[in-house]
This record gives sequence, C-alpha cells and structure tokens, in this order.
Amino acid sequence: MELPGPITTPPAADGHRFVVQRHRATRLHYDLRLEIGGVLVSWAVPRGPTLDPDVRRLAVRVDDHDLAHIDVEAVFGRGDTIVWDWGRWSTDPGVDAATALAAGDLHVDLDGAKLQGRFALIRRGRERGRDQWLLVHKHDADAIRGWDPEAHRRSVKSGLTNEELRGDA
Ligand code: MN
Repeated sequence: MELPGPITTPPAADGHRFVVQRHRATRLHYDLRLEIGGVLVSWAVPRGPTLDPDVRRLAVRVDDHDLAHIDVEAVFGRGDTIVWDWGRWSTDPGVDAATALAAGDLHVDLDGAKLQGRFALIRRGRERGRDQWLLVHKHDADAIRGWDPEAHRRSVKSGLTNEELRGDA
C-alpha cells in the first residue's frame, strides 16, 4: 500500500512556476509544464520524468496551456489528471528561457516536492507535426539511479491518486 504523499501549497506566482500532471487518457502520460512568457509551455512525457540520470525520456511538445491550468485536478470523460508535482524552475544567471526554448536546448533547475535538480530538455526532431524532445536529469547531487515516477503516484495538491480522484480506487 502506497503511503500518503506530501500535500504542499501552490508555488508562488512569480513567473517561474512549473507543474507536472499525471494524466490518464488514451495512454497514460505525464504533462510537464513550465511557466515561460505568461503561458504554460508543455510537453507530454509518456513514461514520466525521472531523477535517474541514465535515462532519457521522450517529451513531445504539445500546445501551450493557460496559467489557470497549473492546479487542475479533474475527471473528464474517460480521462483524469492530478497535480503530480509542482514548484519553481530557474536557469543559470543570464540565460533567457524563451530564447533557450526557441533554440531547442533548455536547461532548468527544478525545485518541486518530487523533482529536484537540473534537467535538460533537448529538441531532437519532428514527427507527426509535433516536436520531439528528450528530457534528461543531469548527473548532480539530486540524481537518483532507478528512481521511478510510478512509485510516487500521489498528488502533491490533494494527496490523491488518479484512481482515488475518479472514485474507482
Ligand atoms: Mn495530457
């Protein structure tokens, strides 16, 4: 049985928030969203972000979302989504995130309830109309080999799993 997860307060609205939502849809995926330029720049990560620095995760760039989406936990149709993690992101001094995003090479430090440390997002190509990126945790003090997002399934907003939110636990 999974232990209750951390329930945390929303990150302050300082222009550098991030959220990761665990979204059960046609296929389970995690939505990584970084607040950049007044929107939530978004990637769908089928296998979810990991702290394991030896693992590269596919991250498909999807449509930007409105900032109001940052705390959405909802059941809709056959899908449901929870706030799996949230917090702040930062870059090195002098790095403009929007410029790095446009260049397809964005390095951010995440300070969340689950995700910590330096991640690289690297654009690798384009398939079926979507930019395909790689998401990799750098080898830093926050890296943990073998770390599996599916072993940490609860919402940091409500403490619920997707199943509990839907009521089919
Ligand atoms: Mn999604």
